[in-house]
Amino acid sequence: MRLPIVAGNWKLNGSRASASTLAREIAAQPVAGVEVIVCPVAVHLDAVARDLENSAVKLGAQNAAAQDSGAFTGEVAVPMLAESGCEYVIIGHSERRSLFGEDEKSCAERFAAVVRGGLIPIFCVGESLEQRESGNTMSVVQQQLQAVFDLSGASAFSNAVIAYEPVWAIGTGKTASPDQAQEVHQFIRGFVAGQDQANAQAVRILYGGSVNPGNAAELFAKADIDGGLIGGAALKSEDFLSVCNAASH
Ligand code: PEP
Repeated sequence: MRLPIVAGNWKLNGSRASASTLAREIAAQPVAGVEVIVCPVAVHLDAVARDLENSAVKLGAQNAAAQDSGAFTGEVAVPMLAESGCEYVIIGHSERRSLFGEDEKSCAERFAAVVRGGLIPIFCVGESLEQRESGNTMSVVQQQLQAVFDLSGASAFSNAVIAYEPVWAIGTGKTASPDQAQEVHQFIRGFVAGQDQANAQAVRILYGGSVNPGNAAELFAKADIDGGLIGGAALKSEDFLSVCNAASH
């Protein structure tokens, strides 16, 4: 049985005070049977780490550099994230890929840096609407995963999480139907199995894209959906905790 995860991606939102309030509200209401992660903006990590002390809620970052140090202005390195108390790092979010030019090679290198630094990547994959409509969903997802296998080897996901996030469902209010999501999750698990059978059963595959308290339970009930990566609904503790409860088992 895979322990579900619900991870909140706070994106570029909030002040230090509002991030702390949100973190404390989430930490104050433990949800059993699900691993809960919050991913604030990098400069709020230290503050949020203090707010989460003595709680089961874990801390994640929204991205990490491929390099551990050096002349890379604006980047944040994995050892720095670890010092701030992070256990997880989102890598390859579609906003990083589409708005900041992170290609498959860059995402694979960042993934490798996270693993090298002893943290756990949450590796995002997903197709655009155009790619879905032209029947290329599976090949796009496969190519995104393949870049990681090429760099990190067949056991790349032995200590990693995958998030399937159809780009057309992120922040749009349009959710993939539970059947649409399950179809891709099953494909992803099968593709991982082709590289490493044992690992495929263990790897947790999250769904992301307009998950909210009203649709979470139906999505999480699917066999290969092991929780969610949550954007908008992660910014209100009540909604986020309700999504966490929907994943709990
Ligand atoms: C995300 O950005 O990872 C995400 C899933 O956002 P939203 O839940 O707002 O669609």
